[in-house]
Amino acid sequence: MRLISGKEDLKKIRRSIEHGTDEQREIVRTILKQVRKFGDQALYELTEKFDHVLLSKLKVSEKEIEQAYEQLDHKLIEIIKEAAENIRFYHEQQKRQSWFVTKEDGTILGQKITPLDAVGVYVPGGTAAYPSSVLMGVIPAKVAGVERIVLTSPPQEDGSLPAGVLVAANESGVKEIYKVGGAQAIGALAYGTETIGRVDKIVGPGNIFVALAKREVFGIVGIDMLAGPSEIVVLADESANPAYIASDLLSQAEHDARSSAVLVTTSNKIAEETIKELHKQLASLPRKEIAEASIRGYGAAYVANDMDEALDIVNELAPEHLEVMTEAPFELLSKIRHAGAIFLGENSSEPVGDYFAGTNHVLPTNGTARFSNPLNVDDFIKKSSIVSYSKNAMESNAKKIAAFARMEGLDAHAIAVEARLGEKK
Ligand code: NAD
Repeated sequence: MRLISGKEDLKKIRRSIEHGTDEQREIVRTILKQVRKFGDQALYELTEKFDHVLLSKLKVSEKEIEQAYEQLDHKLIEIIKEAAENIRFYHEQQKRQSWFVTKEDGTILGQKITPLDAVGVYVPGGTAAYPSSVLMGVIPAKVAGVERIVLTSPPQEDGSLPAGVLVAANESGVKEIYKVGGAQAIGALAYGTETIGRVDKIVGPGNIFVALAKREVFGIVGIDMLAGPSEIVVLADESANPAYIASDLLSQAEHDARSSAVLVTTSNKIAEETIKELHKQLASLPRKEIAEASIRGYGAAYVANDMDEALDIVNELAPEHLEVMTEAPFELLSKIRHAGAIFLGENSSEPVGDYFAGTNHVLPTNGTARFSNPLNVDDFIKKSSIVSYSKNAMESNAKKIAAFARMEGLDAHAIAVEARLGEKK
């Protein structure tokens, strides 16, 4: 990990946004076309090709769910249940109500909240199992009131889904689970096949093929975001513990060779000790190679002149995860403008949020925290505007509305409101 101290240096650790290669885009378009044209048949063939298993059916059965409960350690089942409860509690606070206001002239205006009808939650498989991603995608949709939630995830080579994924799905209340992954899963959710009915929105993280497929089908369905590799920034003053900083940086670096882990500190001593500590801890990590590549490519310790400069750097990076390890972290909160999730104090280690606190771990990456949000209940609702004009309100405003319409050259608009004036025209 390198020590840096100027904005120019900071540029060197910025990642370019992943748009995929031309070849990857072409592969994804071909898969989507295949799914659109051949439906289930394409799903079976593509699953055989990419996941190396020829399935006899796509839908997970009740029996498979029961078996998952038998396979998984009961202590882990209890942990999943408790995490689900925490996530439910947090997202309940995000719920919105419809509202109506009545003005003096009798006009009623409002906003009606309606949950989406059907949502697809993609849960990555491939190289690892992600029961936490099941909870993070499904529970906010449930809290929003979505009736139909469909979960898809690529099967393992024996044709099953990991027990943790199935238990988490059942605990969060999903009834429809399909063994299909990659771009073909996104195609099935967007267009529908004989077995999988189409949905209105697709959420959830995945690899580059999943991300490119979501980008392709956007417009036919809604999508949550295009998440890139994980990132963490730790903002620390001289009171912080370098061993904690180092282990939290590594917790994100181990995700992906393109993950980024940055310390921004006002203390040269903390920066130097963190770097030493980080290399010590790195040596014994099972995912050492990935973490090392991430730290080498996109890791840094930035030493700022003072806390104001440090905060500027944090806001410029707009990280997915920000940890604040300073003497009085809450005092800095009003100055932090851009971060997906903010962890305050030395006990709020980032993995707390990945699994258990209840906040969502699907977060904006690559600086998009400047304009976007963690996955939340609003992602699963729609707002309809409500207008009800009284006779009185129409009569006193029709001429103004008609004049506005004629200014835009839209006579039929003007005539529509003037018609309500009757003899007063
Ligand atoms: P995945 O489920 O995203 O992808 C596996 C699928 O990719 C396969 O089923 C296959 O269909 C497809 N695929 C693989 N190689 C292909 C090829 N050459 N051509 C066409 N399709 C191909 O699982 P993954 O690959 O392990 O990736 C998971 C990603 O999700 C990782 O980047 C991980 O960091 C990320 N993730 C993010 C979060 C988060 O909250 N941000 C959580 C969990 C995982």
